[in-house]
Amino acid sequence: MEKVTVAVETPYDVLIDHDLLKHAAAHLEDLIQGKKVLIVTDENVASFGYLGNLQEAIVGITSGVDTYVLPAGEAQKSAENYVALQGHLATLNYSRSDVIIALGGGVIGDLVGFTAATYLRGIDYIQIPTTLLSAIDSSVGGKTAIDLPQGKNLVGAFYQPRRVLCDLDTFQTLGETIFEDGCAELIKYGMILDGDLLGQLMDRESPLNALSGDLGAIVKRCVEIKRDVVLEDEHDLGLRQMLNFGHTIGHAVEQASHYKVSHGRGVATGMILTQIMAEKEGLTELFLTERFNKLLNQYHLLNQLNLVKDYDFEDLTAAMTNDKKRRGGEITEIFPDSFGKCRLETMPFDQYAGYLAAIIADLK
Ligand code: NAD
Ligand code: ZN
Repeated sequence: MEKVTVAVETPYDVLIDHDLLKHAAAHLEDLIQGKKVLIVTDENVASFGYLGNLQEAIVGITSGVDTYVLPAGEAQKSAENYVALQGHLATLNYSRSDVIIALGGGVIGDLVGFTAATYLRGIDYIQIPTTLLSAIDSSVGGKTAIDLPQGKNLVGAFYQPRRVLCDLDTFQTLGETIFEDGCAELIKYGMILDGDLLGQLMDRESPLNALSGDLGAIVKRCVEIKRDVVLEDEHDLGLRQMLNFGHTIGHAVEQASHYKVSHGRGVATGMILTQIMAEKEGLTELFLTERFNKLLNQYHLLNQLNLVKDYDFEDLTAAMTNDKKRRGGEITEIFPDSFGKCRLETMPFDQYAGYLAAIIADLK
C-alpha cells in the first residue's frame, strides 16, 4: 500500500491501493467506530456496487450507516443540494462527533466537503475518490466548494478531510473519457513541477490506463506534489495558484459550454491555449507547444478544442470576470517556462482578453 501523510494542523493520511473498499473497516476504524456515518455518492457510483460494498464493509463497526444518492454531474454541486444535505443531516440528528463519507468523483467530494465544513460548524469527513481526477486532485488539499449560477466554485471553504482512501480498482469502471479527464490534471502536475512525470506519460508502449501497473505509483507522485504545494500554501496565497494552470480558461470553457465540456477537457483546453498565448508573446521555450500538443492528443484531451471558437467571446470572458483569480482589473495567469516548470504572470485583464481573442480567431 502507498501512503502519503498530509501534515496540516490535523494531519491525515492518503492511502492508495487495490481492494481498499472491501477492507474499509480496518482502514477507517479509528475514525468511525461507534459513530453514525452518512455515505454520500452519485447514481453511477452506486450502480457499480461501490456504495453497497462500502456499506457492507463498515456497517458492523459503526452505530449505523445512512446513504444519500444524488444524480451524477456538475449540476449537483448546487446551493439547493447543499441545503438539502444539511437538512438531511439535521433530520437524522447527526452530531459533531459523527462522520460523512464522500464516495465518488470531484463533484461529490466538493459538495460533501463544503457540507462537512459548515454543518454544526464542522463535522469530520472522509474522501473516497472514485475517479482518477478526484484521487490525484480534488480529494486532497481541503478546497471544498459549490457552484452558483454566476460561476463555478464561488462558495466554499478550506476544510481538510480526516482520511483519503483511494481504491485503484474503482477506476476500472471509469469510461475512457473520464479516465482521460483525470490525465489532464496529471499532465498539469507534470507541467508545473515534474518533467519526469511527463516523460513517464509520453514514453510508454500504451497510454496510461486503469490497468497500468504503474498507476498506483503515478497517483502517489501526484498526491505528493499536491501535498507539498498545499503544505507550503494551505490557503492559496501564492504557490498553490500554480495548481490553477489551465483553469482560468478551463472554467470559462466549462461554463460557456453549460458544463457539456468536462472539467478535465476544459483544463486541457485552457492549458494549450495558455501555452499558445505564452509562445506568441515570447514567454516560453520554443517548440514546447508542439510537444505539449502531442502529449495532450495522446490522451484525446484536445478533441473539444475546436468548440471554443463557437462560444460567444463575451460569455467566455464574463465567466473569467467571475473567476476568483481576477483582482482589480488584473489577472494572474500561469505560463509554462518549460516541461516541468511554470511561473505566475500578472497583466491587465484587457490585455489578456486581447491575446485570447487573437488566439481563438486562429483556431481551425
Ligand atoms: P465527477 O464527480 O462528475 O465524476 C465524473 C463522472 O464519473 C460522473 O458521471 C460520475 O458519476 C462518474 N464516476 C465516478 N466514479 C466512477 C467510477 N468509479 N466508475 C464509473 N463512473 C464513475 O467529476 P470529476 O472529474 O471526478 O471531478 C470534477 C469536479 O472536481 C469539478 O466539479 C471540479 O471543479 C472539482 N475539482 C475540485 C478540486 C478541489 O481542489 N476541490 C480540484 C479539481 C477538481
Ligand atoms: Zn482542476
